[in-house]
Amino acid sequence: MEQLYADVILPLALPTLTFVVPDELCDTINVGSGVAVPLGKQKLYTAIVCRLHHNTPPYKRIRPIGSIVRSEPLASVEQLALWEWIAGYYMCTIGEVMRAALPSLLKPSATDDDLFSQQIFSLGREQVLSLSPTIHTTEQLNQALDSLLPRRKAQYAAMMEFCEALGEEHVFEGEVPRSMFQASWSVVMKLVESGILELTSRERTPHYLAARLTRKATLSEAQQKALDSIGSCFERHNTTLLHGITSSGKTELYIYLADQVLRAGGSVLYLIPELALTEQLISRLRVAFGDGLTIYHSGLTARARTEMYIKLSRSEGGEIVVGTRSAILLPLNNLQLIIVDEEHDASFKQNDPAPRFSARDVAVWMAHNLGAKCLLGSATPSLESFHNAYIGRYGYVWLGERYGEGQLPQVTISDTIKSAQRGERKGHLGKELRDAIDTALADHRQVMLFQNRRGFAPYIECPSCGWSARCPQCGVTLTYYKKGSQLRCNLCGYATEAPTSCPSCHKGEPLPQGFGTEKIEESVAQLYPEARVARLDGDVAASPGRLRSVVGAFERGESDILVGTQMITKGFDFAGVSVVGVLNADNLLCRPDFRAEERTFQTIVQITGRSGRTDNQGHTIIQTAQPQNPTIVQAARGDYRAMAMTQLSDRKAFGYPPFTRLVVLTLKHTSPELLARGARALSAELRALLGRGVTDAHVPAVGHIAQTYIMEIMIRIERGSSPADSKVLIAEALRKFGKDQFFRRIAVSINIDPQ
Ligand code: ADP
Ligand code: ZN
Ligand code: ZN
Repeated sequence: MEQLYADVILPLALPTLTFVVPDELCDTINVGSGVAVPLGKQKLYTAIVCRLHHNTPPYKRIRPIGSIVRSEPLASVEQLALWEWIAGYYMCTIGEVMRAALPSLLKPSATDDDLFSQQIFSLGREQVLSLSPTIHTTEQLNQALDSLLPRRKAQYAAMMEFCEALGEEHVFEGEVPRSMFQASWSVVMKLVESGILELTSRERTPHYLAARLTRKATLSEAQQKALDSIGSCFERHNTTLLHGITSSGKTELYIYLADQVLRAGGSVLYLIPELALTEQLISRLRVAFGDGLTIYHSGLTARARTEMYIKLSRSEGGEIVVGTRSAILLPLNNLQLIIVDEEHDASFKQNDPAPRFSARDVAVWMAHNLGAKCLLGSATPSLESFHNAYIGRYGYVWLGERYGEGQLPQVTISDTIKSAQRGERKGHLGKELRDAIDTALADHRQVMLFQNRRGFAPYIECPSCGWSARCPQCGVTLTYYKKGSQLRCNLCGYATEAPTSCPSCHKGEPLPQGFGTEKIEESVAQLYPEARVARLDGDVAASPGRLRSVVGAFERGESDILVGTQMITKGFDFAGVSVVGVLNADNLLCRPDFRAEERTFQTIVQITGRSGRTDNQGHTIIQTAQPQNPTIVQAARGDYRAMAMTQLSDRKAFGYPPFTRLVVLTLKHTSPELLARGARALSAELRALLGRGVTDAHVPAVGHIAQTYIMEIMIRIERGSSPADSKVLIAEALRKFGKDQFFRRIAVSINIDPQ
């Protein structure tokens, strides 16, 4: 017989490797099987078979596969195709994708056979009950139930429990774990003895219940119309953008759509951003889908994650999973719908380690290649998604009214410079904001004050006209460096000295900006000694207990003013809030990022959406030194289209996404000299291959972490030129770089479509 070979994926930064399949394993090995393979001197790893073939590889010593760890596939053919695409698109190895996708217990490694076999994960066993095979029609089931009444009430109740747990659709083939019964052991055993139920044992997996809708809201007319449009968009487009203002009831639409798919036996993946505050959303979904909802998050134990993985990979459909970005890698069979909630959120993109994928973009790829539908939802879509909808690549559905009585809040722009000149500013707060807070407190309503996370990238601003320095080449805000009083561009490396007098008004002296939430909490507490002031930022959220207690207290109305960072802009639904203050919008606008305007708009609109959710008394005050800034004005009006048109034309002019693709190479080394030489050489090489789209190597906003120095090179891939071809050239340059006797010690990472 011809020799069989297996190409396998190892959970390491390696491409696939080929091994010999020993004859005795030929019958049990499958594509997707987990196998133990030797690598290096003695080490054994779990690998996944991605291809079986008879082509003898062109090298001498090919080692045999050690054993089969799990012949049941750990990854389906669709998953393997997805992994391959991710590795190709994001320029990482397929091993890195596998490492991210498989739970740790399914990829043991060890230095000897004994240790390895001890590590292999196996599920515990549990006893399950199913209907006896003699009962397979409704009539027979009713007969069996009737036989229990009137005397055997306890058994009847247990049967009701059984039927209830499985639901009509699954009652004849479903199984219910013994441990889930309320009924006593003896009652259940009597049902087994009389031949109604059957007791068997199987591998334990969590969440046995079929997902089904237990509560469904009645949709408003506008919601129903949007739901119908989504349906017709999906007939023509695999991906559709649902653009619905805050509190328009998008979540209810997601629930409806998910329910439709579940009823048809399909599975649903519901992706949410990494929020500190997902509890409100999850409990809504729990109410809607009951125990059938699978929740996938980073807090799960390795065992829970593994059981969930196996359970999903065995299921043929009817699953609904809600999770953050890594849930996109779960093995969901018959996946028919992927919902990406708050699709504009940057946390869908993984920045470190590889695979540096965007779960949103992966979802779109899956919709186009694996036959699912993808619904992107947001009140403030990313410009990339909006652009794709605008040019007809995605379907587009607009939902422009709030659900129920809620009105969009009134928005006021408060000029911080004028306010300071009039002497009206008290501890970060201008008169407009103080008046609004006074009114809210008098009415026993609550206030949220938003301050951008303390900028790691300080900028300078003129106190008399609000001018801030921008890069002439890239249009982004320049970062201020105390050392040498320099201004630098984080994208292209442009550097200049910080001016001592304002180049715009010639009156003021531009000063560095940036202040944190803690300081604000202090001064607000001083201004309002009678109010209860709380703070919610990264420091607080680092402890789940503190986070819960701060949120809980605000929810119950036990605090009046909440000062917070980005964290308070989303996921919150508090009825008591009537005033929202953005303390310094310039802090957002002046981030050294070409998306700064887009993000400013999103943040202001999202936080504005936190007030007046239940009545029409919401009021938002935006404090800024640039009251005429188009983005601020557009955000105050909630005019998404105007913002999109302005920004898209700027993006086009400066060559940013969605009109180009960006690739950022990050180089790291402990010697700044070697690093600088290497980075310069690499950017020269790349420029020779790719042309002007390659920037000079430069130091990013954070130039070193401890003893490691960092440099970056940005590559713009023009529309019209093939990204795949460019990636081949980039890979070629990197291969050459990796062979250089000095430079190969420099670590290089690649980020495609950085956020
Ligand atoms: P969005 O996701 O668009 O911000 P939500 O889905 O959170 O909006 O809806 C806002 C509020 O309105 C929530 O409290 C939600 O429960 C309520 N709501 C939305 N649609 C309905 C409906 N059809 N029936 C009852 N309540 C609804
Ligand atoms: Zn000025
Ligand atoms: Zn620049």
